[in-house]
Amino acid sequence: MSTAKLKIDLDALVTNWRSLDAKTNCETAAVVKANGYGLDAGRVGKALANAGARNFFVAAAEEGVALRRAIGEGPGISVFSGHMDGDTKLLKEFHLTPMLNSLDQLLRHFEALPGHPFGIQLDTGMNRLGMEAGEWAAVAEIALGQGPVLLMSHLACADDPNHPMNAHQLQVFHELTDGIEVPRSLAATGGLLLGPKYHFDLCRPGIGLYGGAPYSDAMPVVTLDLPVIQVRDVLAGETVGYSNAWTAKRDARVATVAAGYADGLIRAMGNGGIRAFAGKTPCPVVGRVSMDLITIDVTDLDDVPATLTLINEKQTVDVVADAAGTIGYEILTSMGHRYARTYKG
Ligand SMILES: *Cc1c(COP(=O)(O)O)cnc(C)c1O
Repeated sequence: MSTAKLKIDLDALVTNWRSLDAKTNCETAAVVKANGYGLDAGRVGKALANAGARNFFVAAAEEGVALRRAIGEGPGISVFSGHMDGDTKLLKEFHLTPMLNSLDQLLRHFEALPGHPFGIQLDTGMNRLGMEAGEWAAVAEIALGQGPVLLMSHLACADDPNHPMNAHQLQVFHELTDGIEVPRSLAATGGLLLGPKYHFDLCRPGIGLYGGAPYSDAMPVVTLDLPVIQVRDVLAGETVGYSNAWTAKRDARVATVAAGYADGLIRAMGNGGIRAFAGKTPCPVVGRVSMDLITIDVTDLDDVPATLTLINEKQTVDVVADAAGTIGYEILTSMGHRYARTYKG
């Protein structure tokens, strides 16, 4: 077996959903776009539905279809990209609720699927998706007449509690929606952690469920074990890997493990600070990350185990992300297709 093993702890995921839910007095949905942040939307969805989640969000109708097939009828599935040309059949057949973003989408939806549930996405300053104040003012009456199930918007800076953009977007959201008798949703993980003013009727956490920042109390959900293919002795002064990027300062032992940037362990990670663990003992990653291989200095180990662990409760996806100059979201959603995935719970 030469492929890396990705272990996914669905019990930890459910615990994260429950503890986020316990911080609010509103409904807590679950965002499972990008195949459940790379961890399998079907399995994630089933685990959370069994734990009591009633509503899920995906990015595209096609993701909604896959999720519906996995979790069956019952829970609601909403689509952030709304009602795109060509989505009608999928939305109808698989009972997906589009979050409409524009006048065009409203018209398309009312014409193609009259009476089919929908929500409305408002832009409160992020300038990414949703209707802006002027557009909303023009169509609100018609849209509300058709009975939307949710009015939602998204925060741009909620991972930074002190950012003035949070309060600004909150105020704009109030201005656009106060007095309307339709459930409202503003907060993802970051917004949920900002406190009750941001909760409204439904929160939509994603990353926090999967153990990522900004939810610092999250239980880690993923563990990544890399099989050792070969161990070699390297003399002081010899080099390892592409571009001779690492030179042994002492006589050393180097283990070559099976995973690389083609598996989402991006090259930038090799630039510093990342370790692979033999049990609790950290061993530095040395040299360049290759497409399928990473080299690790195991000189200080008495025995080299069959696998070394790259992501665990000490070195979380966020630690690996920091070292690579990116965010946990990107590390998670880049997790390679070659990994043998095993699920607990
Ligand atoms: C991705 C996304 C979420 C979830 O965000 P997290 O930061 O992962 O909690 C919620 N709402 C929208 C509109 C999103 O695009």
